[in-house]
Amino acid sequence: MTAARLTIDLDALAHNHAVLRAAAGAAEIAPVVKADGYGLGAGPIARRLWAEGARDFFVARLSEGEALRAALAEREATIFVLDGLTQGAAPRLAAARLTPVLSSLAQVEAWTGPAALHFDTGMNRIGIDAGQADEAARLARSLDLALVMSHLSCAAEPDHPRNAAQLERFETVRRAFPGVRASLAASAGIFLSEAYRFDLARPGISLFGGGPREVPDDRFRAVARLDAPILQVRDLKAGDSVGYGGMFTADRPMRIAVLAAGYADGILRGTHARGFASIGGRRAPYVIVSMDMIAVDVSGHGAVAVGDRVELLGAEVLLDDLAAAGNTVAHECLTRLNARAGRVYRGETLT
Ligand SMILES: *Cc1c(COP(=O)(O)O)cnc(C)c1O
Repeated sequence: MTAARLTIDLDALAHNHAVLRAAAGAAEIAPVVKADGYGLGAGPIARRLWAEGARDFFVARLSEGEALRAALAEREATIFVLDGLTQGAAPRLAAARLTPVLSSLAQVEAWTGPAALHFDTGMNRIGIDAGQADEAARLARSLDLALVMSHLSCAAEPDHPRNAAQLERFETVRRAFPGVRASLAASAGIFLSEAYRFDLARPGISLFGGGPREVPDDRFRAVARLDAPILQVRDLKAGDSVGYGGMFTADRPMRIAVLAAGYADGILRGTHARGFASIGGRRAPYVIVSMDMIAVDVSGHGAVAVGDRVELLGAEVLLDDLAAAGNTVAHECLTRLNARAGRVYRGETLT
């Protein structure tokens, strides 16, 4: 292997699924595999989760739902499409037996098959207004209603008052739909309290190793590992600059290793000041991040050679630490990983 490689550990995924199942108590875990399984491959991810017992899945786009239906072959999963009944979607939703998550009264009136309803309880992004629950319930009589759901905006902050406010509004909505299954929690919501879990929880990021509070959580294992070989090792004198525009200047003699991965592989350029790689379990702080190369500080590391493989994301460089270095969330770090790094799956469920 002479280039960056993305290893996807489906046994770690199964472990995280079991952790979420235990945390969710009686609630079912319905994995969210939108954006091609957070960039890790919705097909292999969903097939393994099916083998672990998952039966309901969420995607965002219609095209993701169609691709997931094909990837799950004869498995009779329920696939919810969060975008709902978008323009021209009806025949395609029906053909792929997808369940749209309807987010307006107009969509409820226009659809007749199996559906979920998404209510807005305070995030103000998408959903039927909570105040229209009775009207929606009346219109939904012609649907095969599988689920009533909403989404929390501040669940990663357990003490945020909006959590309780959204819960209360969702409880009110739910009263208009007796006997229909309900869902409010994503990864973070599962860990708020029992009251937030309802019948079905929709975790995404924690399945893939992200902590529900957006900080590392050692109950979850890293699913994605990105590593890359060293292309060159270089000694710098104090005053030597590295990279475009002399982005970094050494303030002392240093040894750097230049890795065959860069922002074109999905490591955000903005991580350069705080990011780090790991070589044999030892941290190597980033020096610069460019398109195809990342230079890291290996001063005092002892023997470091061309061809040695360095971890950029995984069990030693945790997803939430990489996200913090890039001033972003784990979701963005994962979905930026792309096809340039070769992919290897561990623990794959075939066909
Ligand atoms: C993306 C998404 C989720 C999953 O969120 P995570 O933070 O990744 O667990 C759940 N529900 C909805 C509506 C979403 O858009």
